Amino acid sequence: DEVIQISDMAHQMGVKAARLIRTLWQQGMRNVTINSSIDVETAEYVAAEFGYTIENVSFQEDEILASYDDEGELRAPVVTIMGHVDHGKTTLLDYIRKAKVADGEAGGITQHIGAYRVDTNQGPVVFIDTPGHEAFTAMRSRGAAVTDIVVLIVAADDGVMPTTQEAIDHARKSDVPIIVAVNKIDKPEANVGRVEQMLMKEGLVGEDYGGETVISHISAKTGEGVDELLDLLGVQAEVLELVAPVKGPAAGTVIESRVDKGRGTVATVLVQAGELKKGDIVVANEFSGKVRNLLQPGVKNKRLKSATPSTPVEVLGLDGAPPAGMRFHVVESERDARQLVAHRREKRRRKESVLSGPSLLERIKSKK
Ligand code: GDP
Ligand code: MG
Repeated sequence: DEVIQISDMAHQMGVKAARLIRTLWQQGMRNVTINSSIDVETAEYVAAEFGYTIENVSFQEDEILASYDDEGELRAPVVTIMGHVDHGKTTLLDYIRKAKVADGEAGGITQHIGAYRVDTNQGPVVFIDTPGHEAFTAMRSRGAAVTDIVVLIVAADDGVMPTTQEAIDHARKSDVPIIVAVNKIDKPEANVGRVEQMLMKEGLVGEDYGGETVISHISAKTGEGVDELLDLLGVQAEVLELVAPVKGPAAGTVIESRVDKGRGTVATVLVQAGELKKGDIVVANEFSGKVRNLLQPGVKNKRLKSATPSTPVEVLGLDGAPPAGMRFHVVESERDARQLVAHRREKRRRKESVLSGPSLLERIKSKK
């Protein structure tokens, strides 16, 4: 456990050690000398006597964040569609959402949706709509591994382009399997054979050519082949045997967040472990709050009671908008949340400060 030496503490507070020692004596701690160390709780008491507060800067996040002992249960795959601009990423995502998200009254919403979940013949599949590769890269660089499968979309009338190659690189670097969707097969100019030859040069050899890459042929516009693609995703997911713990406090990744005029912060998060419930205390980056409501993304006012792994959900109640790719965690109490946020702010300030960090006590002192 963390301890503080009397002499250090006295020095940082600008108080004579003898005065600290006297205070401790008065509390019955007769053995303390200038070289003694006291625990944080005692130090807090003594500091308070002199009008100071102590923050535990050696606080470890793991002390508060839950760990999970069980591997858990099978979960739905999380899919990101990548490809060159204009090859049909948005059209495909929109088609799937409209065809598969049972949204009733919200039909035909055009607003951007960060993530949604659909049912296929092979079980549920989650689609993440990251605006461009930057977000994907940013998430990866923040250590947020959210994507289980990449759907690489390639227009049949255009073929492999520089961004297609980049997408392949991204997927390979993250060790994420690729399923190819050759799109726009409804177009008269479509040349699937040519595209497959180009893919071969990138090391993506279709099963028809003796390779192992799953290549589907679709039209995101007419919907042709999309059901088959969804089934292929389900099959791939089964191969991957994706599991996550379902019990305990939730944790996951922020997909995107915005501040809504009426509703405050709306954070679309992907639950990756545990169960997220209304009323939970959530911390994401340096923001926190009590979950006021959980909403199903893309479906107007559809409230969810809880969200388990591989469920994207809109969280209302955070006190600010955390950036995409940040982890979120449910903690036990508002006090834990405050402590975690304070710790993170402190850590960031230290990093940002040009001076090689005066101690917290010194800073508190100089403020007075
Ligand atoms: P993104 O940049 O990858 O998101 O591409 P979009 O989804 O915005 O599509 C670019 C253009 O291609 C739009 O005009 C779409 O209507 C069109 N498009 C997308 N998929 C298809 C398709 O399967 N067939 C045809 N004919 N047009 C498509
Ligand atoms: Mg687009």
